[in-house]
Amino acid sequence: MASMWKSVTYVVLITGLFSLTESQEDGEEIPRIGIIGAGVGGTTTAYYLRQLFGKEAVIDIFEQDRVGGRARSINIDDFEYEAGAAVLHPLNEYMVNFTNMFGLERIDASEGRIGFFGSDGMKVETSTWTAVTMAKLLWRYGYDIVKIQNWVQDSLLKNFTRIYKLQNEGIAFTTVEDMLQVMDPEFVRYTHTTIMDVMKEQGFSDIFIKEMVHAIMRNNYGQSVAIPAFVGAVSMAGAQPGLWAVKGGNKQVPEKLLKKSKANLINGKVTQILLQKDGEGVTYEVSYKNPDPESKDQEENAREYDIVVIATPLPTGQTNIKFEDFTQHLPLPDLKLHETIALFVQGYLNASYFGYENLKDMPNGIFTVDEDVFFNSVGKQRPVSFKEHLKKKDVEEEVYKVFLNRVPTEQEVRLLFSGRKDLRLINWKAYPQYSTNMELPPFVLYDRLYNVNAVEIAASALEMSAIGGRNVALLAYNHWYGHLDKIDEVSESDAPSVKQEL
Ligand SMILES: Cc1cc2nc3c(=O)[nH]c(=O)nc-3n(C[C@H](O)[C@H](O)[C@H](O)COP(=O)(O)OP(=O)(O)OC[C@H]3O[C@@H](n4cnc5c(N)ncnc54)[C@H](O)[C@@H]3O)c2cc1C
Repeated sequence: MASMWKSVTYVVLITGLFSLTESQEDGEEIPRIGIIGAGVGGTTTAYYLRQLFGKEAVIDIFEQDRVGGRARSINIDDFEYEAGAAVLHPLNEYMVNFTNMFGLERIDASEGRIGFFGSDGMKVETSTWTAVTMAKLLWRYGYDIVKIQNWVQDSLLKNFTRIYKLQNEGIAFTTVEDMLQVMDPEFVRYTHTTIMDVMKEQGFSDIFIKEMVHAIMRNNYGQSVAIPAFVGAVSMAGAQPGLWAVKGGNKQVPEKLLKKSKANLINGKVTQILLQKDGEGVTYEVSYKNPDPESKDQEENAREYDIVVIATPLPTGQTNIKFEDFTQHLPLPDLKLHETIALFVQGYLNASYFGYENLKDMPNGIFTVDEDVFFNSVGKQRPVSFKEHLKKKDVEEEVYKVFLNRVPTEQEVRLLFSGRKDLRLINWKAYPQYSTNMELPPFVLYDRLYNVNAVEIAASALEMSAIGGRNVALLAYNHWYGHLDKIDEVSESDAPSVKQEL
């Protein structure tokens, strides 16, 4: 299958070459670019496209809902809480750089004291005292608790961060597989092997994998240790020390990227991408309409572009975007999205359900270790911003976020909470339903038609979308100006070492 995508990409590149030569000879031609989706992926693409093509390029970005997409906050009692993407890793270079560049403040987003809860009660909980936590975790999981930090840091993150140097050199990748390959060839295998199997190979114990690792997968992706090891490793990184969030909400990063890119935001729902002119100097017609179905103005509008970037997931059979007049099958990933319910409750957790007498003795975050528990996690939330005139201590009820794979019954909510003042529910089409059978897709769908969210098939995270967005911006630029030596070509010094390949 990967080779099929390679050959599609090859055809695309050959057809693209004619138009590249033309724009190079001309020297003056500046593209008109349409981006669909203003989440982190789309706005990062817009930011880098502006840097690469300069101020003359037309960059339109279509958004049917809100800028930020899955980076979104919810307001409860005048306090803002992260409702989607909540935590960032200290080595998420793009998110760190963007936050610094825009003068935004980083706040601590670590969970605090946590407990691992199963259908037969609390398995283990951490303490406010590091030494006590270490003793408890060593007692239950042995040396695995130390080994995991080294494995994530030295074997995974160190190689993952190679991508930044390559992108800074202007190198782009045609497929997700090519991109992972240069980070570490093992990463490609990790997309087709479960996190459980890879961790067993690494010598981690069954109890550690079945409890702690499983609980982290359930909290971060609503899925089990049967998910591919690459996304599993990204998930494990999300349980490392030093996690942070943007004060005022992570959504500010895409909002500011959009502003900085000087792209035109079009409040529209894209319905169709039509291949208007094929071959030399390909062009597309993007149709869109008012996203509000209640609006009287339901007229379809259309704009013409030289380059089109899709920056939203396209779930198989469920996407609302039609692709018309293409002469060949587009290599879209086979994608099913996992439904995650984020339930916000302002109230009192039912301590006795968790085996505690007093609420104050309970950990801040509870991760569940087995499928028999009806929720994936519950955590006391810290606001990411709040009105200055309100003091947190004036609000008696805490706000909790519960992650579940389905909408809970009233009875289940009552089991978890002894009393409540407010309840909100967000039904997310959250991230891919991961499987080791998923093929790693290309970023190039057709000549000058790109898919940022191909990267989500490897792992869904804000930083992954930023990496995918920059890759697509570089691809579009390198294709447009014929810098084919900057596509999939890595110098010897940047190539993974032989040792890594073995
Ligand atoms: C509950 C939850 C928790 C998460 N936690 C974390 C976390 O802690 N850390 C982390 O790094 N990641 C987390 N993630 C994952 C992270 O949110 C995503 O990987 C990332 O936000 C994806 O960004 P994106 O720009 O690719 O897509 P999106 O943010 O989904 O943006 C796509 C945009 O396209 C728009 N759109 C779609 N179709 C059309 C159309 N036809 N016309 C116009 N516009 C359209 C959508 O409205 C949307 O705004 C979480 C996700 C969820 C759901």
